[in-house]
Amino acid sequence: MKQYVYNFSEGNKQMRNLLGGKGANLAEMTQIGLPVPPGFTITTEACNQYFGDNNSINETIREQIDKAVVQLESLVNKQFDGSPCLLVSVRSGAVFSMPGMMDTILNLGLNDESVEIMGESTQSMCFALDCYRRFIQMYGSVVLEIPMYHFESLLEDCKEKYQLKSDQELQEGHLTELIKNYKKIVLKETGSEFEQSPKNQLYAAIEAVFRSWNNERAKIYRQLNNIPDEVGTAVNVQMMVFGNMGDSSGTGVVFTRNPSSGEKVLFGEFLMNAQGEDVVAGIRTPKPVGELEQIDKAAYDQLVNSAELLETHYSDMQDIEFTIETGSFYILQTRNGKRSAAAAIKIAIDFVEAGILDQEGAVAQLDLSQIDQLLHPVFDHDKLQAADVLATGLPASPGAATGQIFFDARSAEKANSEGLEVLLVRMETSPEDIQGMISSRGILTARGGMTSHAAVVARGMGKCCVSGCSALEINESARTVRIGDQVLKEGDYLSIDGSTGKVYLDKIETISTNLNADFTKIMSWADTLSRLTVLANADTPHDAQKSIEFGARGIGLCRTEHMFFDGNRIMDIREMIMAKTDTGRKAALAKLYPYQKEDFKGIFKAMRTLPVNIRLLDPPLHEFLPKSKTEMQEMADVLSLTYSEIEKVAEELTEVNPMMGLRGCRLGLTYPEIYEMQSRAIITAALEVQAEYEFTPTPEIMIPLVGNEVELSELRVLVADVISALDPEKKLGNVKIGTMIEVPRACMVAEKIAHHADYFSFGTNDLTQMALGYSRDDAGTFIRKYKERKVLEADPFQKIDREGVGELVRMAIDKGKKQVPGLKVGVCGEHGGDADSVAFFNTLDIDYVSCSPFRIPTARLAAAQAALSQKALDSSKI
Ligand code: PEP
Ligand code: MG
Repeated sequence: MKQYVYNFSEGNKQMRNLLGGKGANLAEMTQIGLPVPPGFTITTEACNQYFGDNNSINETIREQIDKAVVQLESLVNKQFDGSPCLLVSVRSGAVFSMPGMMDTILNLGLNDESVEIMGESTQSMCFALDCYRRFIQMYGSVVLEIPMYHFESLLEDCKEKYQLKSDQELQEGHLTELIKNYKKIVLKETGSEFEQSPKNQLYAAIEAVFRSWNNERAKIYRQLNNIPDEVGTAVNVQMMVFGNMGDSSGTGVVFTRNPSSGEKVLFGEFLMNAQGEDVVAGIRTPKPVGELEQIDKAAYDQLVNSAELLETHYSDMQDIEFTIETGSFYILQTRNGKRSAAAAIKIAIDFVEAGILDQEGAVAQLDLSQIDQLLHPVFDHDKLQAADVLATGLPASPGAATGQIFFDARSAEKANSEGLEVLLVRMETSPEDIQGMISSRGILTARGGMTSHAAVVARGMGKCCVSGCSALEINESARTVRIGDQVLKEGDYLSIDGSTGKVYLDKIETISTNLNADFTKIMSWADTLSRLTVLANADTPHDAQKSIEFGARGIGLCRTEHMFFDGNRIMDIREMIMAKTDTGRKAALAKLYPYQKEDFKGIFKAMRTLPVNIRLLDPPLHEFLPKSKTEMQEMADVLSLTYSEIEKVAEELTEVNPMMGLRGCRLGLTYPEIYEMQSRAIITAALEVQAEYEFTPTPEIMIPLVGNEVELSELRVLVADVISALDPEKKLGNVKIGTMIEVPRACMVAEKIAHHADYFSFGTNDLTQMALGYSRDDAGTFIRKYKERKVLEADPFQKIDREGVGELVRMAIDKGKKQVPGLKVGVCGEHGGDADSVAFFNTLDIDYVSCSPFRIPTARLAAAQAALSQKALDSSKI
């Protein structure tokens, strides 16, 4: 019979898929002897079985749960429905961490009888009643789906009636009255009395946690983090320990390192006399963990030792939840801690230096999706000097953000959809705010610590966040916030710095950051592990410089048409396109030649001896034709033609389907003088740079949109003639002439094309467009729908379509290499910067990927991680 329920003593950390992250770690910690309250895990398979059985727990699973309860009762010597009474927590635990997205129920097992027993055994009726009222509230809202505000308003009414300032002041009489009222609400809303059988409570709670896998916020979180819907959640049932049993009890959350900077210090917060959720919910402001040493030295020492042990055991920074129950220390959870990208890099390097990880382990541990956080903006230093600091909160998630303030998630979302720069300002955030957080540039909260929801979620999203800024007085109904003397209303500008916690008045410009020495070090480790080289798609000297900073090993695609978008150049290229005679075209080309040559020189200077692969002109003509009346008139003046003559030429040149029109090599063959001028500019620029500096540039010349071997053979002769005329002594060596492979036909006849090519560069943008028949410019409209309806798993223009386009690439490589065994092969479509696609390309016989400068760091790391996964796979086969 299939096992659906595992005691903590039966599992281990390898069983994550079955037990979920939390369950696997609870089991592992139990195995290594840490003080974990006992319990059991109901597997993710049970969750899927529950959905398969029409949202019900079948007999087999029920029997296994019953058996686990009996075992737990005898292990801890307490009983459900007996004395001493066993109370449990019921928590979700998915395979991938989804903090706060699903539901939790605490104090389960309490009823009218056991609350009395608990009151006697703890000698505090008040404590027992408080646990009971919290339980009814949680059970009522999570299991019975009664809106939380019913309970909250009863609590507020009670406090008001007896003039109490906080929940802690509730006395026995107040609590008894409150419980009575809570039960009335349950009866009114559900038509049934509050469930008294702990077993029934447990089944219903487990079902509720399973159901919460499909609540709205969990679904959004999964979508955002690419977590598949099918995996389901496990459920952990664990004996309760109480952090709220008086002043010698407490609870807290710690990270084993500082999650923003990566510094090696125990970093976290705790509250005495509090239950777990109080720390993260941000309702009471917790104390820094260092202060625990003065309050309970023994517990603090146990915490420090456990943290050290867990970090070494998991070879990763940990995020640990602990509870002290009347002086006894327990660990409730450990997981790999979420951290900023900068912290992740520092921690990985420190672990290598401490011998906990090797370089491969350090590179494998980095989270690819976080890398571009390093390219996060910071405030322009000069502008910052002039700005007023209004208040300071906690530096919860790094980066700088400036935007118009909105006070709730919905308004933030709406404002963002209208194109505004949004800053979400909240008392504290809760998981319901997730869509609003996604829509904002930064998040500012009045309450909550460094482990509050806002802080943890923002850090995970790579979004700037300042939390716990107590100077904010938010008036939600008036939609204003007072900060000191200033009163700001919705739509006013604020700026926040998530690295310092400072809040500034007004808008402050941001600039991108510089990459530090840690980044350079870990990236150089990544490069030594990779099989694929990462090159840049760069069209200007500025982009070339940027790509060097990001570690590109050359330029894999320089789109020459992009050099003409600026200022006067567009006029000259229009003149060239619209010229009616060869002489007119040649005159326009003569004007373009100096720009091209100078730009190429700038690029060669930046790239020095690294390869610079320049693609000859490939303009979809519609991007260059004059559109407005003014543009037409300007052209008419330049070409000494009338307005209507220009209109006529533009009409003649207008194509119904410009992406399949007079582009690429078709243009080159139709007007050879264009490619002749460009080749001349490239070679002359390289020779001039060589003469002026002490190095030899490495130009490569690439022909686009080839689908027929004659297209390439003819243009190759044209380019080669220019090269040998300008560089007869081969001062530049053998300049390579290659081709783009971006038309499906080119893949089919790749062996013939290879005959004339020094290299293949796959243009996967056009190849995707033409293989799938989806227009690159218009597909957005239906791709979203296709994804929703699961016709497509992902946008094929972002993630390579492995089965279709990927197979075309594989076939073309096989055919090409059969003809020319050492043929160099690369990819220069957008997929070259997408981690998943890079992992796929790593499985093919490809030498390099090329992508835009800002995607280079991700591509470098993706290439290394792909190589490591491949290595692990190969060794598992031996
Ligand atoms: C491609 O088609 O993948 C490519 C790199 O060329 P472009 O995007 O310029 O058409
Ligand atoms: Mg293309």
